[in-house]
Amino acid sequence: MKFINMTNNSDLTPACRIAEDLINNPLSQMHQDLLRVDYYFRWSWDNKGSNLSDQVECRFRIINGPEEVKVFTYRPKWPFTKAVAYADKKGIHFNIYKVDKTDLASKVGTLLHEYAHKCEFGHGNNFKTEEKVKFSIPYWLSSNVSRWS
Ligand SMILES: [Zn+2]
Repeated sequence: MKFINMTNNSDLTPACRIAEDLINNPLSQMHQDLLRVDYYFRWSWDNKGSNLSDQVECRFRIINGPEEVKVFTYRPKWPFTKAVAYADKKGIHFNIYKVDKTDLASKVGTLLHEYAHKCEFGHGNNFKTEEKVKFSIPYWLSSNVSRWS
């Protein structure tokens, strides 16, 4: 797959390259970690995530997601919103007020999180104290990204 930086923010381009390498390379550390079963690396969705066939399905969905995802910035109506980004049919939209304040790893994490939504992985709400949210694929990717980039 490929992320296409539609913004004039050049900091997003290296983040796009790193995120797509992690997604495209089935031997990347991200894919290796998705195969782990240790407690701290567990992930789950719909009661899945505990055996090899779940792991294979998860990685299949990540590798076979959309071919091309466009990356945009947007100006939120409420500038102090906590929202960092969202995904829709058009692509991934970064909050323009947050994008300069986040480091490279966080940008990669946001791309992976939103890409997981494009692969139809969800997390219900945003309360990361809840296990189903914390261990969802989108949050699992964005919270482990510093290990990979
Ligand atoms: Zn999300």
